Amino acid sequence: MQPKYKRVLLKLSGESLAGNEGHGIDFDTVLRICRPIKTCSLMGVQIAIVVGGGNFWRGRSSGQMDRTRADHMGMLATAINALGVADALEQLGVQVRVQTAISMQEVAEPYIRNRAVRHLEKGRVVVFACGTGNPFFSTDTAASLRAAEIEADIILKATMVDGVYDSDPKVNPNAKKFDTLSFMDVLNKDLKVMDSTAASMCRDNHIPICVFSLDDPENIERVICGQSIGTIVKEDTTV
Ligand code: UDP
Repeated sequence: MQPKYKRVLLKLSGESLAGNEGHGIDFDTVLRICRPIKTCSLMGVQIAIVVGGGNFWRGRSSGQMDRTRADHMGMLATAINALGVADALEQLGVQVRVQTAISMQEVAEPYIRNRAVRHLEKGRVVVFACGTGNPFFSTDTAASLRAAEIEADIILKATMVDGVYDSDPKVNPNAKKFDTLSFMDVLNKDLKVMDSTAASMCRDNHIPICVFSLDDPENIERVICGQSIGTIVKEDTTV
């Protein structure tokens, strides 16, 4: 297989790192996800990763807590995941750098866009942690922001379902999967691809998103090599 993209931004939700447990980090699962990342990196694809934190903490589900503080906790959760992913990649022999949007320089590099791009050009995988560094945002928005900054060709959003459906396939057995969608469809029909801030950011910056299932982590390689699995969200679905 030949890669279709030169530089990609892979969004890994916190949940995807938790394995069957549903929370915390299952390191075997992380290793399984990192193997195709290594394969693609060896093919010369520049790979940046934004990790979520929902396997530990989500600010919006924190109940009585002050939202800003709860979001700070969520961003710290993404840093834990980023270190887990980095460790798995290193164990597989991949060069990796973690950059955080909230400084913790004893643990990881601060986010510096040009430095991130240099790492990518040198073949290192870069893991972005702490989302955007601001409360009230999601790591999906962080993925669209970082993708725009590093000029990624596409965002690969690895999820627990194999694409975008017109209704929840777990509830409705007749739910229809879309192969392609426009950002307008996503925003107007309120399809649960990513939050509207993230979707508008991608639309405004002309960054397509491929939503696909991580049930089989090899899908990462398939998507990077242009196989049509999942759903592609792009500006104009006629091209
Ligand atoms: N978060 C934040 N600002 C950001 C990104 C994330 O405050 O720019 C916090 C927020 O509390 C969020 C948590 O970090 O709930 C974990 O991120 P997210 O829910 O996007 O993780 P995922 O669902 O992808 O695992």
